[in-house]
Amino acid sequence: MLEARDRPGGRVHTLREPFSDGLHTEEGAVFLPDNHELTMGYCREFGLPLVPVVERAAGKLYHVRGRLIRFGRGGNPTWPFPLTDEEAQLGYSGIWKKYVGDALHDLGDPSTPDWPTDPRVERLDRMNGAEFLAARGASPGAIALLGVGYFDLLGDGLESYSALLLVRDLALSQTPHQTFSIKGGNDRLPRAFASVLGHRIHYNSPVVQVTPGERGARVVVERRGEHQTLTADHVIVAIPFSVLRRLDVGPGLTPTKRQAIDELPYTSVARVYLQANHRFWVDEELPTSASTDLPVKWIFEPTLNQPGPRGILECYTAGPPARAMTNMAPQERIDYALSYVDHVYPEIRRHFERGASKCWDEDPWARGAYAWFRPGQMRSLLPHIARPEGRLHFAGEHASAWPGWTQGALASGVRAAQEILTAA
Ligand SMILES: Cc1cc2nc3c(=O)[nH]c(=O)nc-3n(C[C@H](O)[C@H](O)[C@H](O)COP(=O)(O)OP(=O)(O)OC[C@H]3O[C@@H](n4cnc5c(N)ncnc54)[C@H](O)[C@@H]3O)c2cc1C
Repeated sequence: MLEARDRPGGRVHTLREPFSDGLHTEEGAVFLPDNHELTMGYCREFGLPLVPVVERAAGKLYHVRGRLIRFGRGGNPTWPFPLTDEEAQLGYSGIWKKYVGDALHDLGDPSTPDWPTDPRVERLDRMNGAEFLAARGASPGAIALLGVGYFDLLGDGLESYSALLLVRDLALSQTPHQTFSIKGGNDRLPRAFASVLGHRIHYNSPVVQVTPGERGARVVVERRGEHQTLTADHVIVAIPFSVLRRLDVGPGLTPTKRQAIDELPYTSVARVYLQANHRFWVDEELPTSASTDLPVKWIFEPTLNQPGPRGILECYTAGPPARAMTNMAPQERIDYALSYVDHVYPEIRRHFERGASKCWDEDPWARGAYAWFRPGQMRSLLPHIARPEGRLHFAGEHASAWPGWTQGALASGVRAAQEILTAA
């Protein structure tokens, strides 16, 4: 295993510095749902203790169109969006069910490689998320409301990505589930894999060239400033396509594979972590997950299960605002985040102690957070992403039905290993 970084885990990485009292947060994967069987299975196999992610205070918090909106279970606030009378009556959960939830039936099995087999489902790839909601009868106001929060954290927002991608992601998370994280940090999972693999992992070993072949494959790796050529019966390329497209791959790749490597987009994600000397949100009984249309997008507490008086509020933003933040200096990112978080949690300024940030676009071994698909790309690119090329096999979240999830990376690894076993 050739790994460019000096550590295992890639996009599963726990940030332990510069926080106090052993507080930690995640740069990548945060939530591990228990309907992700492979993720759960490996956590069990390695004996990693899981802690449920449970909100401290009930209710929902939004900051939209300049207004702070808080409501409890079953509550139906007046939204600053032009909703129809029916939508206003349905409220957020009713709107979600009508336009989204009810569309997730009879889709077949989205985890299978040849999905979708039904042309009516496949047609969803021709429209973006907003067009899909409009086709289901949602008013522009309801689309704007649904576009705040989760739907806004993929690609460049609801209007940018394929409706088929949205539907697949939601359909795969439909079964009732509880969300967990690993006690002590999610990177304990890749570290557990790494300790089993031991010396078979070569760190600080970036691959610079990959060449497929009929009888074997060749890889050139840079080690201590020198290039070394390695050959193997089979090679699994688990490098994100956002990085792979900058390497020397080929010749001999099929044009469709080359196109998939070159064109697959990756979501820009920027995260800013703000440590407070006191969890003032507990005193105020405020929910610690707020969806906003501010440039910081989503604010939440990643330290829910961690002891001590201090806590962290995190901003998680994606798309154009994430790219804007990536261009800022580290201190500027923190000041910028504070200037918006205080719209929702005004006490943050009084309690703020120190901060940190992670912008995935500038990570040289990721160049983005996770794969997404523009309308049309699930038909044009998806069938070619995971397909082997001679003795080259492809793994990673992008080569799975769960892009953006740890489960996807694991499932793709199992699939690639099976391909080799079958070929042998
Ligand atoms: C911001 C963010 C939030 C996320 N949230 C969640 C979540 O809540 N729940 C969840 O389950 N998942 C989440 N994920 C997704 C999850 O982290 C990824 O799907 C998963 O880690 C991807 O694994 P991978 O093996 O495909 O890629 P990676 O983890 O990126 O592994 C690829 C490896 O290849 C190495 N590499 C790259 N280039 C080279 C090269 N030239 N030579 C050698 N090595 C190279 C990299 O260093 C890396 O170690 C999130 C990811 C991000 C970024």
